[in-house]
Amino acid sequence: VSTAARVSHLIDNSALATAAHSLDLCVHCGFCLQACPTYLALSDENDSPRGRLLLMRSVVEGDLSINDPTLQKHIDRCLGCRACESACPSGVPYGHLLEATRATIATTRPIPLLARVTLTVMASRVLRGMLFFFARLLRGSGIARWLSRVPGKPGLAFAMLESTRCPLPQRGYNAVGNGTRGRVATLTGCVMAGLFEATNHATERTLVVNDYQIARAPGQGCCGALHAHAGDIERARALARRNIEAFEESGADAIAVNAAGCAAMMRDYGQLLERDATWRARAVTVAAKTRDITELLAASGPRTGSAIPCVVAYDAPCHLVHAQRVTRPPLVILQAIPGLVVSALPDADQCCGGAGIYNLLESSLSREILTPKLATIARTGATLIATGNPGCIMQIGAGLLHAGSRVRCVHPVDLLDASYAEAR
Ligand code: SF4
Ligand code: SF4
Repeated sequence: VSTAARVSHLIDNSALATAAHSLDLCVHCGFCLQACPTYLALSDENDSPRGRLLLMRSVVEGDLSINDPTLQKHIDRCLGCRACESACPSGVPYGHLLEATRATIATTRPIPLLARVTLTVMASRVLRGMLFFFARLLRGSGIARWLSRVPGKPGLAFAMLESTRCPLPQRGYNAVGNGTRGRVATLTGCVMAGLFEATNHATERTLVVNDYQIARAPGQGCCGALHAHAGDIERARALARRNIEAFEESGADAIAVNAAGCAAMMRDYGQLLERDATWRARAVTVAAKTRDITELLAASGPRTGSAIPCVVAYDAPCHLVHAQRVTRPPLVILQAIPGLVVSALPDADQCCGGAGIYNLLESSLSREILTPKLATIARTGATLIATGNPGCIMQIGAGLLHAGSRVRCVHPVDLLDASYAEAR
């Protein structure tokens, strides 16, 4: 009898009950264990993908309460990095099952206060505008850099803010292209728009240089990824609907996203709204148009700029490599920049421990997961780490700052843009 046929009445009509049929895909082979950062750090089967799937199945079958603190602890500790999906030969959609479990937990246990405040701010244009205005003041005044040396959580928070400063010289230029590759709208995002404004400008300029036209989508906002990952599924759906409308109105052929976590979420809009008859088809269309920025740039060559002589190592964001299965395009971008030496980073596809707001909620485990990556980075001889996700830039960047390293994090598009600026 399938798991879906044995759903306990205790979780009737819940997100987990709806997703329960996917639990049957797991054959308990354990191939995913060595890919799981929390299992590697804690050596506890309950903190592995296979163990968590078993916990989910126990809830579905009524053997374990959704209110069980042990269940909640092991689900909370999951990074949602989806490395287990890449390792799984059976195609278990772990990420969807995790979101469904968290959404079901959120119906009986309030989302932690820090997460609730963060999610409320990100969903509100006014609140996040105010937050990022003050954050930019702290960063611009040098206070963030100075306070990043303070030990503990406060210092780490300032180090994360300081790491959003682009380490490359900022030189705008007049981007020119023939626009023959089609109309592209860009997701400006929440954190990207607030703290990575240089990368958002670089994204538009590099698209234009590579012959794309920019389509405007002024009604857009946060993609809802942080909300979906935390179990706030209704707010994630509301944010998705707003973006779908905005990108439809833009008339774009494609949607370029420079934050891996956001692109992964947008590619899932069809699934997020699959039970909404009004929005389902529209969500599927927008999801199909969504591309990581490096995919669009790699498809056009990309055009070559001037030399940027330095050594860079590439770290693959989990939501690019595992959730979207995009592996080559970021390397194509970096290798197209003259003078840039790309040094191999062992275990580049292992999670850095950032995982959205995980580093705020599970800070000590997050640091433990980051530590081996910092040691590996030190051995590459790179002066820059390129990675295409704001959470990864902030997590790795803060870790490097705290460790007193001179290595800095940068988005691959910033490097390509700097190469174009140099050429002009
Ligand atoms: S999502 Fe990442 S942390 Fe969670 S079970 Fe899968 S591999 Fe482990
Ligand atoms: S690899 Fe896939 S099938 Fe095997 S235990 Fe892990 S989730 Fe289950």
